[in-house]
Amino acid sequence: MSATGTPTAGTPAAGMPAAGMPAAGMPAAGTPAAGTPAAGTPAADTPYLRPAQLAGRHFSTVVVGAGVNGAGVFRDLCLQGVDCLIVDKGDIAAGASSAPSRMIHGGLRYLESGAFSLVAEATRERNLLLRNAAHLVRPLETVVPLSSRFGGLVGSVLRFAGLRASPGARGLCVVGLGLRLYDRLGRRQRVMPEHRIARVAAADGALFGAAVRWTATYYDAWIRHPEWLVLELIRDGHRDQSESVASNYCRVTACQGRTVTLRDALTGESVQVTADTVVNATGAWLDRSAGALQGQGSRVMGTKGSHLILDHPALRDALRGRMAYFEASDGRVCIVYPFLDRVLVGSTDIPVDDPDQAATDPAEIDYLLDVLREVFPRLDFGRGNVVYTYVGVRPLAQSDADKPGQISRDHAVVIDPPNASRDVPLICLVGGKWTTFRSLAQLAADAVLAQLGRTRAQSTEQLAIGGGAGMPADAPGLDRLLDDIQAASGLSRTRVAELVNRYGSGARALARGFADQGDAPLKHAPEYSAPEVRFLCRDTAVQHLADLVIRRTLLAIRGRMTAALAGELAGIAAAELGWSPARHDAELQACIATLRDRHFVLFPVSISSPVTI
Ligand SMILES: Cc1cc2nc3c(=O)[nH]c(=O)nc-3n(C[C@H](O)[C@H](O)[C@H](O)COP(=O)(O)OP(=O)(O)OC[C@H]3O[C@@H](n4cnc5c(N)ncnc54)[C@H](O)[C@@H]3O)c2cc1C
Repeated sequence: MSATGTPTAGTPAAGMPAAGMPAAGMPAAGTPAAGTPAAGTPAADTPYLRPAQLAGRHFSTVVVGAGVNGAGVFRDLCLQGVDCLIVDKGDIAAGASSAPSRMIHGGLRYLESGAFSLVAEATRERNLLLRNAAHLVRPLETVVPLSSRFGGLVGSVLRFAGLRASPGARGLCVVGLGLRLYDRLGRRQRVMPEHRIARVAAADGALFGAAVRWTATYYDAWIRHPEWLVLELIRDGHRDQSESVASNYCRVTACQGRTVTLRDALTGESVQVTADTVVNATGAWLDRSAGALQGQGSRVMGTKGSHLILDHPALRDALRGRMAYFEASDGRVCIVYPFLDRVLVGSTDIPVDDPDQAATDPAEIDYLLDVLREVFPRLDFGRGNVVYTYVGVRPLAQSDADKPGQISRDHAVVIDPPNASRDVPLICLVGGKWTTFRSLAQLAADAVLAQLGRTRAQSTEQLAIGGGAGMPADAPGLDRLLDDIQAASGLSRTRVAELVNRYGSGARALARGFADQGDAPLKHAPEYSAPEVRFLCRDTAVQHLADLVIRRTLLAIRGRMTAALAGELAGIAAAELGWSPARHDAELQACIATLRDRHFVLFPVSISSPVTI
């Protein structure tokens, strides 16, 4: 870790010192102890049920869509004592919530369009997440290369005045002004150092081209594993209201009267539940699901964004733990930062009609590589550096902006009242960023509470999430946590640090459970153990091998997947989840095909040849 907690693999970061931090030693929320139930048996206190187990039940609220926004509403309503069901047509957090640039940020560039309240809200939420999810959200030092003093001044003024202007690189004056404002707006719950502007440092000679004369440095944050935080929100919600449950691979197909129809994507079976209110949190699918929910359409438009994960030690070293934030020559804002032992590069911004069809086009990979060559002319980049790609669709409010990048990232909650065919109100979440999920969820939960005639009992503002509860705020506290877990479990320091990195304070209970089962490292990925994989399969609603590989672990995004590792994981999942040999083979082939076709993972072994475990 660098002094500012910039992203590195290895030892976990202590959260930045902050007021309101829960005391160290608080019970870990959100992560159960790892027991050993029989194969195929879900954990006893699981929030997850299959649709058949839901048939005929009544819920005060059904939340449709288990991305970060739906999960945020679920957690908030559960905290108020409201019994809820949350469902997703795919895996938990498999939509846009698994595909962000992983920045927890205020949105520096939104200042130009005068979106001060959005930036103020987003910087406040960033600061809250640094405290409430200190196990997964870490500060990120960010560097902006600057070539001119006055560049972009006219364009920025025009955009600020609401007039359209073609893009041009922002110079020192514009960026300096923006950062001064950014610091000021981000002062609430303040935990970040102020920005600085300086002549380009000699150490950055290996990074930027000769044209770069100054660099501006400021601080935002990044999230290590967004999908895990969504699972923790659901787990926390179920802990607070045990009647509240969740179901993945469960599509809402209709809403008539008070009846919501759910279709199990694994079995094809349809069941019905009843509800007093329904929340449409389907992100980029909002208008499509409005059809099934008898709501209004035409509220969102989607733009897809692709990211690359590079194996590029020279770039990673030259970044020195910082994110580089810059404009490409076509005006698109791009980001590059060290992500664990890799480098994350993003992103494109291309309008799409159907979020289900969004895929990374090879031309997007070439575009991002070209941008890297332009900004880092002293380094070489090629397709061979790309170990993984991912894509998602931003749920943006309808807009007539000229360019996708100019569309507001703000959010809103709108209510479709009951109508001739639907007897319950439909509360719709429009737009939003990952960073601001809590405040959007609060807005939506308040709307639901009003419809139910109930009042808010508690705010989520100071509430830690999952393994963020009890995470120490400083390095000595973190050392004590590692000491405690090591002493209680007998696991090695490295292993304990890994578990704390992944599960925060939840590592306390997990380490003991894994140690009791021997904690044997995986042969092809020794940083995970067999008991850990069994826990993930059993307690986090893994239905397909790809759920485990792509969203429950960081193995795929780190470019660690091989056919042999896929085979090893499939063997454990099959034993734990009771898959037949045929199901095991089908899952393995499907997972490998997904990694190859959707994420550009190059397997040394062709999938047409049989994969042995
Ligand atoms: C490329 C890209 C980069 C981004 N970068 C950042 C960033 O760095 N920082 C940041 O703050 N934000 C970022 N965002 C924005 C952020 O990721 C999204 O705003 C956020 O994840 C949206 O969450 P959501 O829950 O509304 O939508 P989603 O996560 O898309 O969830 C909607 C869910 O609804 C489900 N669904 C749809 N129809 C049905 C149905 N009929 N029945 C059941 N379920 C259904 C879908 O399967 C999906 O899982 C980025 C987004 C993208 C795409």
